[in-house]
Amino acid sequence: METKIDLSEKDMPVSWYNINADLPAPLSPPLNPGTNEPIGPDDLSVIFPMELIGQEMSPERWIPIPEPVRDIYRLYRPTPLIRAHRLEKALGTPAKIFYKYEGVSPSGSHKPNTAIAQAYYNKEAGIKRLSTETGAGQWGSALSFACNAFGLECMVYMVKVSYEQKPYRRSMMEVWGANVASSPSNLTDFGRKILAEDPNSIGSLGIAISEAVEDAATKDDTNYTLGSVLNHVLLHQTVIGQEAKKQMNSIDEYPDIIIGCCGGGSNLAGISYPFLADKFAGKDLRVIAAEPKACPTLTAGEYKYDFGDTAGMTPLVQMYTLGHEFVPAGIHAGGLRYHGDSPQISLLYHEGIIEAVAYHQNEVFKVAVEFAKSEGIIPAPEAAHAIKSVFDEANKCKETGESKTILFNLSGHGNFDLSAYDQYLSGDLEDYDYEKEAGA
Ligand SMILES: *Cc1c(COP(=O)(O)O)cnc(C)c1O
Repeated sequence: METKIDLSEKDMPVSWYNINADLPAPLSPPLNPGTNEPIGPDDLSVIFPMELIGQEMSPERWIPIPEPVRDIYRLYRPTPLIRAHRLEKALGTPAKIFYKYEGVSPSGSHKPNTAIAQAYYNKEAGIKRLSTETGAGQWGSALSFACNAFGLECMVYMVKVSYEQKPYRRSMMEVWGANVASSPSNLTDFGRKILAEDPNSIGSLGIAISEAVEDAATKDDTNYTLGSVLNHVLLHQTVIGQEAKKQMNSIDEYPDIIIGCCGGGSNLAGISYPFLADKFAGKDLRVIAAEPKACPTLTAGEYKYDFGDTAGMTPLVQMYTLGHEFVPAGIHAGGLRYHGDSPQISLLYHEGIIEAVAYHQNEVFKVAVEFAKSEGIIPAPEAAHAIKSVFDEANKCKETGESKTILFNLSGHGNFDLSAYDQYLSGDLEDYDYEKEAGA
């Protein structure tokens, strides 16, 4: 039986799959916070190029991937699908476990799939410079790589707690030519305001987004980019699931359960949307979002209109949210420290089409280490949340004797997160409850 199921470059997807064409209920429109009216393309054009605004609102099921984007995808796509034979044995489970490994990209996660597309459309629109925020540094490094590929300048506001925990992510961004600031920074009005209130602020994605949006909104040659949450970002990630479907099909397999960790929802969307198209057509399939207990957006948040950032500069969107002022504890899965969630993923959860689970970081690192011992790859702390859910489902199969087929997205490797593994191994990692954090 095969371990690595590879595709050739000519099997790489030629279009992205737009789930908006198939959603069971319409998405609520983003609202202008001043007027409470739905926003139009012109409101967004201050910080986004028209092509991406069009994709954000498009009802088309398939959107062609431009050739220059596919050309850079070829540096690492198609990514391998791997059968976790050794993990199955270690767990003693009758379940079949497959993972799609996105850690083979230059920056080590799935994020270049959208960074490359976003850099391309901005370049085509005549933009010279892109600003963004980054949590763990994975989005910042993906965008730095993509900006360099298309000759754009890149300005990254990096959440302070990660800036200090993960100095080598900053080095990586600088190798690709980006400018990186610790957020809150003194480069923006909003950053200066936060620092005046709390000079020791550890920062949050919400604060960093406010800084990056302010940077782009106040400069003509600069646009803003987001690494998750928005429809067009999730759209670009659907190359993952399309490839996985072809790969599973080539060995006559189809998943019963698909699992992804969920920060803003992009890697979960990427792996699951092309399969959800089958579920909408009647196929039996479970999709599970795995999130941290310190930031349990789907499992403990409210489904309502909220801001995407802390300052309240973005449009209001309907999503599961812990409140735009919520600053999660400094857990190591920085990419999962977002107060909200993608409106698409939120709708799918609200409609009962996908499920969600939440875990503490110690139990997550425990399975991450077991995974590394079986499969070799050291997973990103974010991806390890998905692995915890895989362990739970595989152990259920062990109890019932059922042989379910489980597919999960290994969204990135953890080679830049070894300080987190150090803390786990020395017993210094703390678990945080959302309730405690919120002061309840
Ligand atoms: C950013 C990131 C995540 C979380 O973001 P999503 O948009 O929810 O995918 C998960 N895993 C890795 C490796 C990341 O870099």
